[in-house]
Amino acid sequence: MSTIWMNQLSWVDYEARVSQDQPPIFLPVGALEQHGPHLPLGTDGLLSAAVAADTATLVGGLVAPTLSYGYKSQPKCGGGQHFCGTTSVDAATLIGSVRDAVREFARHGVTKLVIVNGHYENQWFLIEGIDLGLRDLGRDAKLQVMRLEYWDFLTEDTLKSVFPDGFPGFALEHAAVIETSMMLHYHPSLVRTDLIPDEPPADFPPYDVYPTKKHWVPLSGVLSSARGSTAEKGKVMALELGQRMAAAVTEAFE
Ligand code: ZN
Ligand code: MN
Repeated sequence: MSTIWMNQLSWVDYEARVSQDQPPIFLPVGALEQHGPHLPLGTDGLLSAAVAADTATLVGGLVAPTLSYGYKSQPKCGGGQHFCGTTSVDAATLIGSVRDAVREFARHGVTKLVIVNGHYENQWFLIEGIDLGLRDLGRDAKLQVMRLEYWDFLTEDTLKSVFPDGFPGFALEHAAVIETSMMLHYHPSLVRTDLIPDEPPADFPPYDVYPTKKHWVPLSGVLSSARGSTAEKGKVMALELGQRMAAAVTEAFE
């Protein structure tokens, strides 16, 4: 009964945990999206689940199975929808999944739900799902929902040490140093270090055009170089994320 993974518990053990300890339930959200030739399609969900698990361990929480399909990949932060393997859902589908999750966890008696996002494009649709779910439950509901993008918990000091030549920003960090280093820490066997491309950061204009322009996006799908990635950097970031997210969860539900 010491597992943090909800899907490994029986309903009887899960009910006991929820009613006795009121554990925060972590719901990781990801995407099935190209991450260059060197990282797996499921990187966003693998990383959000990994940081959720580290955080849950620190605060006595449980981790629910990941919502593994995300909102449509955009050229400037995920490369776009034209890559083979990128498999996305309409906004309404993602909103509906989150709304359903909010309703179901509330029905279980859960009072603290933490939605851990690992895919940039999901943000507003998670907010909408939470809002509609809480509206369904009504004013007397005891469930509180916290929502976060895990990368926002990295400190300036850490970003400076991970990017000695300057941080390109989180949008261009797609399949680059942060995600590659964290995958080298959590899932080293899934990283093809021999295939890491070394291209300068993509240079996008300050507007979007639809249908999207494929030629704006590097052929590799990587938006800035992943060359400086190391497992050590991944470990430093993972430790910081777990600790700072745990503190935030404790503070938010005080
Ligand atoms: Zn990603
Ligand atoms: Mn993504």
